[in-house]
Amino acid sequence: MAFAGIQRRMTKLARRQMTVAEIAEFFERLAVANPEPVTELAYANGYQLLVAVVLSAQATDVGVNKATKRLFETVHTPQQMIDLGEDGLKSHIRTIGLFNAKARNVIALSHRLVNDFGGDVPDNRDTLETLPGVGRKTANVVVSVLFGQETCAVDTHVFRVANRTGMAPGKTPLLVENAIMKRVKPPWRRHAHHWLILHGRYTCTARSPKCAVCPVNDLCQFRAKMDAPAPG
Ligand code: SF4
Repeated sequence: MAFAGIQRRMTKLARRQMTVAEIAEFFERLAVANPEPVTELAYANGYQLLVAVVLSAQATDVGVNKATKRLFETVHTPQQMIDLGEDGLKSHIRTIGLFNAKARNVIALSHRLVNDFGGDVPDNRDTLETLPGVGRKTANVVVSVLFGQETCAVDTHVFRVANRTGMAPGKTPLLVENAIMKRVKPPWRRHAHHWLILHGRYTCTARSPKCAVCPVNDLCQFRAKMDAPAPG
């Protein structure tokens, strides 16, 4: 899986684990700049969000939004997706990686939604995970964004930031997710996923983390972090 190579490099990146108090301070600072972080995927209803998240596996949100712009103008429900058909869907999403498999899964999950759930998106992670193309990460995003449940989907950004900083170290996405759910306390847990994704996407980037301008530099336990410049 995509995490395999990263996992080897992620062991013992941090000098020590952050304390619970440091974690609270970490999110308090990120919340100053962005009190209500939201997904950068474009969608107009729950079904479109589910489809967008399925399409976003190993793809960027920007790339998914470009592909779904025209699609979501006419397809708002699973039945409309079924009517569009697999080939019709492929014509919209062929710029996205793995588009053949994703198109197959989106059509199959649309049939399941129509046949078993009256066209609605289930509000339960375990049920969502039974849908074609929906894994734990996708299900976590959907129940968090649509239904306000306290979950934390671990993608490559969350995985990297949690390990580097010492917030929630772990060798697998599931271990990191469990550590986040244990160590990040309310009220920060609710939006931890989006704060960590955005921090990883724009500041704590994979190749050149912007440590010199990072608002949580003094809290971060990353062994290789660059010190922030002295004030004044
Ligand atoms: S100090 Fe550097 S490594 Fe630590 S969270 Fe900030 S950007 Fe990431």
